[in-house]
Amino acid sequence: MRVLLALGGNAMTNADGRARPEDQIAAAQVAMAAVADLLAQDVEVVITHGNGPQVGNLLVKNELAAAVVPPVPLDWCGAQTQATLGFVLMNALESALAEHGLARRTAALVTRTRVDADDPGFEKPTKPIGHFLPADQALVLVEHGETWEDRGDKGWRRVVASPEPVEILDAPAVQSLVADGFVVVAAGGGGIPVVRDPDGSLRGVEAVIDKDLGAALLARTVDADVLVIATDVPHAVLHYGTPEAADVGTVPVATMREYAAAGHFASGSMGPKVDAACRFVEQGGARSVITDLAHLTAAINGDGGTVVVPSSDQT
Ligand code: ADP
Ligand code: MG
Repeated sequence: MRVLLALGGNAMTNADGRARPEDQIAAAQVAMAAVADLLAQDVEVVITHGNGPQVGNLLVKNELAAAVVPPVPLDWCGAQTQATLGFVLMNALESALAEHGLARRTAALVTRTRVDADDPGFEKPTKPIGHFLPADQALVLVEHGETWEDRGDKGWRRVVASPEPVEILDAPAVQSLVADGFVVVAAGGGGIPVVRDPDGSLRGVEAVIDKDLGAALLARTVDADVLVIATDVPHAVLHYGTPEAADVGTVPVATMREYAAAGHFASGSMGPKVDAACRFVEQGGARSVITDLAHLTAAINGDGGTVVVPSSDQT
């Protein structure tokens, strides 16, 4: 069985969201212990991860240091976080594998994801990123061409395009490494967004790709059997946060789409996970799992978590 495991922000930071290097290393160790458990069961795992807090921190450095060192574009920030998190995950995974007596090589790939230059997201940016700023500082950045929105008491926040991932351009390298026995970390943060210009060349763009939608595309591209989205809750929940809250267990994809259409899953958090889980199954994947790290192995073995299955399956 091949699993594409997408690690959420909480798997890469402290539970309270802090992202000091030691917090990130500790969180990676917890996540990679779970991955090593899967590998020990002969489950093939390809790993991807979010990068929101890390990119947010790089943007602060850009803003504070702009008078001293040139700010780098958002696609560079994405590439930098893929490299750093890939490095941290490889170290953590190799230590966890050693504890199991497993000798597997690991690799982290700087991965580009092609998006469409005509994606509507570029016309109307909607994805909030980075830290809040007071109005006067935000307006300076608006003058530099960035889009910032007034979010009331918390201050102003930058919004960027979140285009649809169209193609994981470096998937062939992932495939080759997997075929050679490597445990691969790829397409962090959904991949570095690039567009193809009319002359055929590739160019990074100021955007962020939803990591869960990137994960679904990577899962299909590398022919995974199961897409697993590991987050900080054990299930997707109906009527979330209300007295009627009810966990979603194993569910046909058509029913999950109905729940989503009825507004059960918040757009900035659980919504894209549910969308990614549904897409993977609609496009031929065997099943998608949404759960937390503590329930990962059980959920992959069919015991727990939210599991989206093809509507034709009798469950
Ligand atoms: P990650 O950082 O792991 O990618 P997010 O923080 O974006 O994940 O999304 C997970 C969060 O989604 C949960 O912690 C929960 O607060 C929130 N959430 C919103 N709606 C729901 C829902 N219907 N069911 C479960 N969690 C939900
Ligand atoms: Mg989160």
